[in-house]
Amino acid sequence: MDIDALLEFDRAHLWHPYSSMSSMSSMSSINSMGTPNPVYPVVSAQGVRLKLADGRELIDGMASWWSAIHGYNHPDMNRALKAQIDQLSHVMFGGLTHPAAVELGRKLLELTPAPLQTIFYSDSGSVAVEVAMKMALQYWQSRGEAQRTQFLSLRGAYHGDTLGAMSICDPATGMHSLFADVLNPQHFVERPNCRFGEVCSEQDIAAFAAALQAHQNTLAAVVLEPIVQGAGGMWFYSADYLSKIRELCDQHNVLLIFDEIATGFGRTGRMFACEHADVSPDIMCIGKALTGGYLGLAATLTTKNISDSISQSKPGVFMHGPTFMGNPLACTAALASINLLLESDWRANIKAIETGLREGLSECAHRPQVADVRVLGAIGVVELKQPVDMRSITEQFVNAGVWVRPFGKLVYLMPPYVISHDDLDSLTSVIALVIHNMAK
Ligand code: PMP
Repeated sequence: MDIDALLEFDRAHLWHPYSSMSSMSSMSSINSMGTPNPVYPVVSAQGVRLKLADGRELIDGMASWWSAIHGYNHPDMNRALKAQIDQLSHVMFGGLTHPAAVELGRKLLELTPAPLQTIFYSDSGSVAVEVAMKMALQYWQSRGEAQRTQFLSLRGAYHGDTLGAMSICDPATGMHSLFADVLNPQHFVERPNCRFGEVCSEQDIAAFAAALQAHQNTLAAVVLEPIVQGAGGMWFYSADYLSKIRELCDQHNVLLIFDEIATGFGRTGRMFACEHADVSPDIMCIGKALTGGYLGLAATLTTKNISDSISQSKPGVFMHGPTFMGNPLACTAALASINLLLESDWRANIKAIETGLREGLSECAHRPQVADVRVLGAIGVVELKQPVDMRSITEQFVNAGVWVRPFGKLVYLMPPYVISHDDLDSLTSVIALVIHNMAK
């Protein structure tokens, strides 16, 4: 393989997430979320190691953005997918069904909160969020309350990159402020100050309660990431806050949507983050780790009450239907991934990672350039006082043999669940060292 030619084409023609196509662009001339060149060519991956074209191996601290929970190139996943390819790679879901979609559906109903009984498959997290929003809107139309067109979300939220999802991301500090003029205006309240493990006081919930009270007749739903706000700030908040929100939504007859796209499938120490508060949503979005990082698949689940209400009133159908809905390969990957997870001692694995992250990142808390260190389940976050220099820090990480991709002021880890103690130790040690050297 001619790696130079590959990189040259990539640089000239392929847009990467939140990146600039101009080689003239420096980090500061784009924004704190931008992706500077260079990109690193990966030729294979095995377990928790990514192999670069020049032969270097990197320990993966990102699980490819929350998704590769079993690591890469897992024999069970590969076997299941190869068998499915020989059977049925794709077929339209309009008017047809297939065993992988049904089996996955059965499994998802076993795992997710009991009131959720109807599943809508889609291809990505952002689309799952769009679908959730449309479900809420169509539900209220079916109930004769078509004036309920708005959503209430939290500051610091991140729900995706499509127009509907963007409208419920943090309007100022999120990545979408550029589009403010074309997004539907929604309602926001400050993210909760009460941290995970803390009790939520009346004062902590007051702003949310007031917003719900003020807008209850026009709100279709409250949308939030339960317990962990991800790309909007990696913030872990009180389970008590979440149960109070459930109570308030019930009191005011407003639907509650949980975006478990990042938190689902064990990442926080529970199968779904809402289990920390023992509450269930009216609509729930899942994605990312659903297929163990093998293929794009997401799902939006809802209650029978909501799906019946939508189906029994005009136009009698839910108005959404992606081409690759319920793709058999993606459903097979999801089934294989869930089976692997359930067969493993995942709770113990997450606990061990949590302990390793706490031990390994704790020394960062003493550094003058660090604002906060927090760990929950298999997520470890070092929040700095200043945004990192992406180009320089990425180079330092790669040269030290790890793949860690910070954004803004956040250096964080969310490794595959199969990571060994030693590899985790390498990840946290490199982070501690790189942050230590920043001071010099
Ligand atoms: N919701 C949350 C909580 C997410 O973290 C993400 C992705 N970072 C999304 C939605 C959007 O998912 P996708 O990138 O698959 O569209």
